[in-house]
Amino acid sequence: MSTQTQQPPFQVRVVPVTPFQQNCSIIRAASGKAAVVDPGGEPEKILEAAKAFDATIEQIWLTHGHLDHAGGAEAVKRETGAPIIGPHKEDTFWLDEIADHWAKYGQPGMGEDCKPDAWLNDGDTLELDGIEFNVAYTPGHTPGHVVIYHQGARVAFVGDVIFAGSIGRTDFPRGDHDTLINSITQKLWPLGDDMQFVPGHGPVSTFGQERKSNPFVSDAVTGYGGAQKQAPDTLAQKTSKRWQ
Ligand SMILES: [Zn+2]
Ligand SMILES: [Zn+2]
Repeated sequence: MSTQTQQPPFQVRVVPVTPFQQNCSIIRAASGKAAVVDPGGEPEKILEAAKAFDATIEQIWLTHGHLDHAGGAEAVKRETGAPIIGPHKEDTFWLDEIADHWAKYGQPGMGEDCKPDAWLNDGDTLELDGIEFNVAYTPGHTPGHVVIYHQGARVAFVGDVIFAGSIGRTDFPRGDHDTLINSITQKLWPLGDDMQFVPGHGPVSTFGQERKSNPFVSDAVTGYGGAQKQAPDTLAQKTSKRWQ
């Protein structure tokens, strides 16, 4: 057994954007080439953060089509020339209504509709300066949601699938609770308990921690891994923060 820990081949800086405090992540390879995950808004703030990080944005990756994740993508593309990649094409209807939705939330002009240059599918790989990332299709919060992760570095960018102590909302059009739970237990848990994740909102956590204590998807609630199934803690569920 090796005790050597793999040094991640990239650095990550998280920039919360929009009134929803969405965690936009800048992934920077050693060369300075970078991918930005979910530039949901405030593109000038993202571009400034990239500059301070000495990062050159070459790709824009989207986990899903919600306004707070994709609303700044076209503006970042205009400034950098980086292509917009993802999410899965089932989120087209969300991407087409971003400007309208910001207006509905009382923030007209906060974001614009988005036309990706490429869609993502389950099992796809993304490459940043020779570093390979994997894609898992994880519908439920939206029908076209994907998660992007790096096996060796043990980090996943999960958008609004799961949060520290909560899960994504499923009360939007074409959201589905059971589909979301299946995405979490069948696509995320097999990646390993030590996989750290950057959610779309709030603090980072690990899949192992959520399997222990998340009131929506702990093993005790889902019965995952042969765990004795218990009734969910409804008070904890009611008081948990649910996000866009
Ligand atoms: Zn969100
Ligand atoms: Zn969302």
